[in-house]
Amino acid sequence: MPILYKDEEKKKMLLLQFERCKGCSICIEACPRGVLKEGDKQNHRLVYPPIYAPEGDKNCTLCESCMIACPDFAIYVVEVPEE
Ligand code: SF4
Ligand code: SF4
Repeated sequence: MPILYKDEEKKKMLLLQFERCKGCSICIEACPRGVLKEGDKQNHRLVYPPIYAPEGDKNCTLCESCMIACPDFAIYVVEVPEE
């Protein structure tokens, strides 16, 4: 499962279930930081899941807005598992 972003200090990361995504772009609109963009790679549903594309130093804050907004539970914030 692709890791879109990982914050070692917070010990959390943003994950995307690539094949589960239906390409609705709701997460892109929901992100207050504007760090998600439509990707250019199609999944098996023939849609384009988002990619992580921050501009400048505007990184993901792991606020979970995209996770809450996604109707298909395809993008979410989880804790980084202990080694
Ligand atoms: S967790 Fe928050 S800041 Fe990070 S991509 Fe999702 S909505 Fe944007
Ligand atoms: S909200 Fe969910 S289903 Fe819609 S584009 Fe984002 S990850 Fe994909």
